[in-house]
Amino acid sequence: MRILVLGGTSEASALARRLAGRSDVEPILSLAGRTARPAPSPIPVRTGGFGGVDGLAAYLRKEGIAALVDATHPFAARISANAVQAGAATGVPVAVFTRPAWSQVPGDRWMEVDDVDAAVAALGVAPLCVFLTVGRLSLGVFAAAPQHTYVIRSIDRPEALETLPSRRSITDRGPFRLDAEVELMRRERIEVVVSKNSGGDATYAKIAAARRLGLPVVLVRRPAAAGAVTFESVDEVLAWLSAVAGDRGVAARLSSA
Ligand code: NAP
Repeated sequence: MRILVLGGTSEASALARRLAGRSDVEPILSLAGRTARPAPSPIPVRTGGFGGVDGLAAYLRKEGIAALVDATHPFAARISANAVQAGAATGVPVAVFTRPAWSQVPGDRWMEVDDVDAAVAALGVAPLCVFLTVGRLSLGVFAAAPQHTYVIRSIDRPEALETLPSRRSITDRGPFRLDAEVELMRRERIEVVVSKNSGGDATYAKIAAARRLGLPVVLVRRPAAAGAVTFESVDEVLAWLSAVAGDRGVAARLSSA
């Protein structure tokens, strides 16, 4: 059974590790191609956009994909919507594999906003030292608030940094440890953290570090989910794939009866 995994996340990598080497499935990992040096994959990889819903639907048909697992980042809303629509158009079952969102706990000082533009406004007019961890593709909007000093962490070095007059850049890939995050925020004299509510463990340490240091966090809420069946563990996804394989077997037996 051929399975397409839409990836670019630690969830997709974890699923790929569990699917690798199995004789009953042929998994393919799809990456958008945003990261210059993606983490190595134990299953075959294809890279680049499909060309919208129609392109993805055409790919599913051409490659004989039997199940589509959308394990993209919770903020990758367009590809997730495309996956649901392409699944509906082709009859390919679609499941989302994602991580639970973070929830506020006592000691957190969160200011939740709906998008990155609102995060810029939430920083206010007085100059602050901001730890910016929203991903390099969302940095441009912070040019609207040039009074702040931005400490930017991203996997690849951002290209459009000159739009932010006062900034320092750190390239690093999670997972991050709490002690190291506390040390980084102290060293860089961070006054506020800006983050997406990505959820999961790999990048939660910055939220816990802000709590420990009493720092406010401007947290961008997740976009609305695209509407497919959703799982939060690899085991649940594997059980769903087994059910899809079982349904296909039944359908094949019925059509040959
Ligand atoms: P997006 O806005 O939802 O998608 C934009 C377009 O990129 C899609 O329409 C699709 O192009 C292409 N695309 C996205 N993910 C793809 C995939 N896995 N395989 C093939 N094409 C893909 O996505 P995004 O926010 O730019 O994120 C891009 C990738 O980075 C995702 O795979 C995501 O998992 C990863 N990522 C995103 C974030 C984030 O904060 N957004 C954080 C960490 C990792 P076509 O329409 O041409 O098919």
